[in-house]
Amino acid sequence: MTDLLITGGTVVDGTGAPERRADVAVAGGLVEAVGDLTGRPAARVLDAAGHVVAPGFVDVHTHSDLTLLSSPAAHSKVRQGVTTELIGNCGLGVAPVVGADMAALRGAAGYLDLDPAVTWDWTDMSGYLATLAEARPAVNVASLVAHIPLRAGVVGFADRAAEPAELDRMCGLLEDALAAGAAGASTGLMYAPLTYAREEELTALARTVAARDRLFSWHIRDYGDDLLDSVRQVLRVAEATGCRTQISHLIAVGRRNWGKVARALELVDESRARGADVGVDVYPYLAGNAPLSQLVPAWAQAGGETAMRARLAEESVRRRVRAEWSDLPTSWSEVTVSRIPADRPGVAGRTVADLAEAAGTGGADVVLDLVGEFGNAVMMVAGGRSEEDLLAALRHPATVIGSDGQALDPEGPTGAGVPHPRSFGCYPRLFADHVRTGRLPLAEAVRKCTGAPAARAGLRDRGELVAGMAADVVVFAPDRIADLATYAEPQRYPSGIRAVVVNGQVVVEHGTHLGTRPGSVLRAG
Ligand SMILES: [Zn+2]
Repeated sequence: MTDLLITGGTVVDGTGAPERRADVAVAGGLVEAVGDLTGRPAARVLDAAGHVVAPGFVDVHTHSDLTLLSSPAAHSKVRQGVTTELIGNCGLGVAPVVGADMAALRGAAGYLDLDPAVTWDWTDMSGYLATLAEARPAVNVASLVAHIPLRAGVVGFADRAAEPAELDRMCGLLEDALAAGAAGASTGLMYAPLTYAREEELTALARTVAARDRLFSWHIRDYGDDLLDSVRQVLRVAEATGCRTQISHLIAVGRRNWGKVARALELVDESRARGADVGVDVYPYLAGNAPLSQLVPAWAQAGGETAMRARLAEESVRRRVRAEWSDLPTSWSEVTVSRIPADRPGVAGRTVADLAEAAGTGGADVVLDLVGEFGNAVMMVAGGRSEEDLLAALRHPATVIGSDGQALDPEGPTGAGVPHPRSFGCYPRLFADHVRTGRLPLAEAVRKCTGAPAARAGLRDRGELVAGMAADVVVFAPDRIADLATYAEPQRYPSGIRAVVVNGQVVVEHGTHLGTRPGSVLRAG
């Protein structure tokens, strides 16, 4: 008996094949059949006339490592059609917890750590994935092994290269986590202590990942003035190791760097022509989101969050940082404080330039004061990017969509502040702004949100609406799908999502979350 029959819709199957009229039958959590299934008996029928029926979106770049433990219903994600998340990106992660001082590690992962009530009860990847499974998330989750816990556990937060024995130890921890089912690894070379990692360390990690044919995702060293050299570094390591590689959220920050995304993509094309397996992800916004401390020079972050906060109180340090910031590619009017871990009205949602004017001081001092007080837990939304760069990235065949957002619940602790709207509206925005306007063909856009990212992440039974695959499905109205989340009011769910199905169970219907949480933890190998 068919559990669920989705009838009369336009199927876009995620392979890139053109859309076609078809019904979709679901049984036992799997896609049972796709085609003309008129008259087939089913426990439940969902009328999809006038709607697109696609595989659920596979969000290949997310930071829900801890928010899924606080808010397993994954409201902001599943309501936009996401059915699978790949966490552990940008080098930021929570396992393994070996050797590192727990407070220091939590401090370094401040970007992920929005709910102090979530306790870290695991020590290794296997324990973390078991904790995640016990939380019963609404979406499927696969995890990368983040570089920060590896380096923090072995080298600590010191500003130095890893010794050969430390490299071996890091690769051993990485291998254990890959053996436990992690989908790959990630680094984030703008986040301390990863700012201190030398290329040989990255090459050693890449070899370990390549030996299991998993994915290595890179938040590269710089997205501004040194974008192209940073991309060249990734490609060098990818070609030297044969590692399946992903460049995270390809952007060019700062007006003087506009146009460099197209050049970066040419470098990627040349590397692919030489045989490297390199992909790219991108989100359809002109602003990003990160800890404000990402702006603090690496030397000022040595020793970890506590040491950084103490250092930023010294006037000689502040003078040196101010001098370095006199030539930032972005201006303070393009940087908005999006969240602070304190009840201080009138800070979140305002630009640094604005806060500086109100305080009668400079933007640099506003940032130094906030990071000095709150460390890595103050977040920013930062602009200064060009539409042309974004379009170049979106259109490139090797590019897939990844929100770089988090599963958030506006009613819970994860929903505080003024988060980046991509956590709520990334996928609907792609279809509203780029498909409905004719910039991207529908089937290609769906492929970039489903089959292509699933393949990057090595998820062989996800991302295509084909018999035998897992029944993760989104049903949306192509003429009405739209993101309603804005920078000022980000906690708004999108319109036009008719239904979202995870492992054969309906989670969202007519925009309402039914409370079901049928997601699985996906282990590689
Ligand atoms: Zn990220």
